[in-house]
Amino acid sequence: MKRAPESWQDSKVASIIDLRSDTCSQPTDAMRDAMARAPVGDDVYGDDPTVKQLEAEVADVLGVEDAVYVPSGTMSNQIAVRTHTEPGDAVLLDQGAHIYMNEAGGMAALSGTLPRLLPGVRGVFTADDVRATLGVPSRYPLSTNATPMKLLCLENTHNGGGGKIWSIEQIKAATDVARERGLKTHLDGARLWNASVATGVAEKTYAQFFDSISVCFSKGLGAPVGSALCGSREFIKRARRFKQQFGGGFRQAGIIAAGALYALRCNRARLAEDHAHAKMLAEGIRDCPGLVVDVAAVETNILRFKVTSLPASEFAERLSAKGLRVLPGGLDGIRAIPYLNITTAQIQEAIEIIRSVTAATHAAQA
Ligand SMILES: *Cc1c(COP(=O)(O)O)cnc(C)c1O
Repeated sequence: MKRAPESWQDSKVASIIDLRSDTCSQPTDAMRDAMARAPVGDDVYGDDPTVKQLEAEVADVLGVEDAVYVPSGTMSNQIAVRTHTEPGDAVLLDQGAHIYMNEAGGMAALSGTLPRLLPGVRGVFTADDVRATLGVPSRYPLSTNATPMKLLCLENTHNGGGGKIWSIEQIKAATDVARERGLKTHLDGARLWNASVATGVAEKTYAQFFDSISVCFSKGLGAPVGSALCGSREFIKRARRFKQQFGGGFRQAGIIAAGALYALRCNRARLAEDHAHAKMLAEGIRDCPGLVVDVAAVETNILRFKVTSLPASEFAERLSAKGLRVLPGGLDGIRAIPYLNITTAQIQEAIEIIRSVTAATHAAQA
């Protein structure tokens, strides 16, 4: 019988350090063992014991009644938008929200909703921003020509904002305004685990302000596939209908749910290591010529910095030629995210690669 290599990390091309995203994380041997042994059933019939176990445990971690396991964070968010709204409704969210920017136009295509963009700073907007967008409450019934605003979405940590954490006070203030005005609230908590590890504030403490919460297992937690949408029993019942409608009904999903369950149980605390690596990387390149690096802005596992000496895509190509992959975004943005398969030695190597490329670029331009 052909056996898997001892370490799956080692079986990857050793020379490439891939920091494009924490979605590039690889399941470890222990996780793969748990997956191989998972009891399974037909999840569309509600028969998969591993999926059920995962849903029960994640609901417990978030302090909600129920949860549904879905193939991706995108599907989880889009099901939430669909479940909370009707076509023609507006959704309030940050101008850089993943739901708006990075989900292939889903909120328009799948739910027929309109975005009302809030002017967040690194993804964090204020209660006043929400108030200004909702306008003054009317003593009269809503005029029939007004677009109904039904849902407020927050993202914590904020991906576009460089892993920025919302404080409990900020969350409470913004969601209070929405709730007072009859809106539902959704949290895109793809990296809520990172916020909790960084602050020591439990996931359920963050979750209490929302009608629904989406969390990802496939980012820093290292599971190969899946997210969970969490909320009240009634909300999840309706969400399950849209999961199926969006083509997310998967059969013996316990195989992948076992990876997610392993991640939920074993891989949350170690995210602190990724946070330290992101900080270390930022500190190692802060004084490179042609880079603008805000070390203090690194709160979790995401490092975003700017390149001023050449286009970001060109810079990323030069790093790639030396064995380091990062994600260019916009004209001058670069994103790098460490995760569980990335070692301290690889972070040091990444620093050396960035230092050598910026030095060479600087010398050529001098
Ligand atoms: C990655 C991500 C998602 C979507 O997750 P996928 O599983 O890649 O679809 C949603 N929200 C945020 C903030 C993310 O970073």
